[in-house]
Amino acid sequence: MTFAPREPRADADETLDPDDWDALRAQGHRMLDDMVDYIAGIRTRPVWQPIPAETRARFRAGLPRASADLDGIYREFADHIAPYTAGNVHPGFMGWVNGGGTAVGMLAEMLAAGLNANLGGRDHVPIEVERQIALWVRQMFGFPDTASGIFVTGTSMANLMGVLVARAARLGPSVRERGLSDRGAGLTAYTSAATHGCIAQAMDLAGFGTDALRRIPVDRCHRIGVDALRAQVAVDRAAGLEPFLVIGSAGTVDIGAIDDLAALHALCRDENLWLHIDGAYGALGILSPEIAPRLAGIESADSIAFDFHKWGQVPYDAGFLLVRDGEQHRRTFAAPAAYLRRETRGLAAGSPWPCDYGPDMSRGFRALKTWFTLKAYGTDKLGAMIARTCALARCLEAKVAAEPKLELLAPVQLNIVCFRYRSDDTDRVNAGIVASLHESGIAAPSTTTLDGRLAIRAAIVNHRTGVRDIEALVSAVLEFGARESEVRQFEAREAGR
Ligand SMILES: *Cc1c(COP(=O)(O)O)cnc(C)c1O
Repeated sequence: MTFAPREPRADADETLDPDDWDALRAQGHRMLDDMVDYIAGIRTRPVWQPIPAETRARFRAGLPRASADLDGIYREFADHIAPYTAGNVHPGFMGWVNGGGTAVGMLAEMLAAGLNANLGGRDHVPIEVERQIALWVRQMFGFPDTASGIFVTGTSMANLMGVLVARAARLGPSVRERGLSDRGAGLTAYTSAATHGCIAQAMDLAGFGTDALRRIPVDRCHRIGVDALRAQVAVDRAAGLEPFLVIGSAGTVDIGAIDDLAALHALCRDENLWLHIDGAYGALGILSPEIAPRLAGIESADSIAFDFHKWGQVPYDAGFLLVRDGEQHRRTFAAPAAYLRRETRGLAAGSPWPCDYGPDMSRGFRALKTWFTLKAYGTDKLGAMIARTCALARCLEAKVAAEPKLELLAPVQLNIVCFRYRSDDTDRVNAGIVASLHESGIAAPSTTTLDGRLAIRAAIVNHRTGVRDIEALVSAVLEFGARESEVRQFEAREAGR
């Protein structure tokens, strides 16, 4: 007896494609119209609003087993997801360092999702698009043609990969088989006390441990003390350790300080150290003729990590790693595998592939939204937009200086302003001001601690932010500051009774 295999059906009801393409098309047009309205009308909405318990509870519902109607799912999105985002599309968003995105980037994301390209490897034009961005990035930073560049999630990942490339450059390819073993035990890296926390994490994940990272004190403007760095390198060498890496900052996350990158490069050359730059948001300042001179020296770095999703306004996520010695970069990550065999013809051609330059095999088409953004606006306009966010920060600085109730807590160097409301019990009052600002939906700055004092931190990153948003922030801080101070005074009187 034989079993005739049943012919698999490929009808619409067995695939995941719609039965009715016209209905899908109409639904898609509604979604697109709504999202264009959402972005165009973003000012009419609160920056942020608290999530109602009922909305939060919906997202605890279990695994859907049955199919559901797309229109209903979309309504759930419109009613319960879209209104409760963090607000970084909004011009009043000034917290942390978040990009605002653009409608152009959104459309490119849709196109990328339609192509569903996997940029791990093989021979197709989406990879050429990513290679073109790498070419443009080399041009931006004055890197040689032999430098390599690759998209990653964000600068946290790009910094980790930078540390791994520096590690392999120092210890040679055998580190990939043998691990750090004895030779890696004494390797030390250097960065400033103001550097982002992901650098310490990168040292941890790369196997060195965070103790192998020396945090060098900063000057008044939060730049690394280069003399102190030189002295620490000498002390460590004398103790039998092996300095191998310096991580410079191009825009610190707390106040936007840029290290003296030319001095760091000179030191690294003298001491034979790898120079990696965390330029997460600040490196794209290179596009502004006003800011670029302050990044002098970045063109000499061994590697640079930065994000297109911050000052570049590309929708999340779009981090990037640029490595001067592209071959060293490839040797750090490339691994032969029978199922990834390269050919000189056909779809398996085009080696080396992006998967040879990082730990990811499957990779999305982040390059497309970046390509659209760079082409649609051009780097002159993007540079001008970046300079404008810095001008707005200076405008806020001037308003703070002119207002007796407010006090500046750090020099404004780029686009970040740290200040506070003068009051008794200042930290609590200022934390209260920021929470009230968030709840009011007027503006969303964040906080940081500078010299032990809580600061209201406004990072102007969003291209939509304008003078009126700065004015709205200042008047709301004054209003909430007076209210919070009163509440604290009342509490203090009650407690003293
Ligand atoms: C944002 C930021 C990071 C982290 O980048 P992600 O893209 O969020 O991973 C690292 N360093 C600095 C200076 C940053 O501003």
